[in-house]
Amino acid sequence: MVILDMGRLTLENFREAVTAQGWKLTPQRIAIVEYVANALHHPTAEDICIHVNERFPMTSRATVYNTLHLLRDYGLLQEINEAGVIRFDPNIRDHHHFICTSCGSVRDIPQELVNIVFSAEATDFEANDIEVVVRGRCVVCKSLGNVFVATS
Ligand SMILES: [Zn+2]
Ligand SMILES: [Zn+2]
Repeated sequence: MVILDMGRLTLENFREAVTAQGWKLTPQRIAIVEYVANALHHPTAEDICIHVNERFPMTSRATVYNTLHLLRDYGLLQEINEAGVIRFDPNIRDHHHFICTSCGSVRDIPQELVNIVFSAEATDFEANDIEVVVRGRCVVCKSLGNVFVATS
């Protein structure tokens, strides 16, 4: 349920949602939101658990998952499924993704950088949304000459 088109998850948007929805505001939740909001690499729930536990040891997996699902259901976070791996995306505008086939990192590609023509007439389905995934080597892997193909 998207209440407002806020564009992306920020601490301010989160605080507004907390007030509007009466969510519990805990230091752990703030740490989760701070990490996800500033992450450009589309972290997994596991990445988020590890990071939050560095700041708040003993933060349970349930706390992390509950918070992520709350944000997703409210429309402040997108869940993306890439090859069976669920990642969290603070960019809630329509956009495309670049995936590095060497290190597996996922980056955003703004909508306007991809020009695509979809011939809906040639199919029998109605398209509501088009998401393009570009694969290749990220800037880090390119500079390292890294050609290892991630298997996970
Ligand atoms: Zn890479
Ligand atoms: Zn994204």
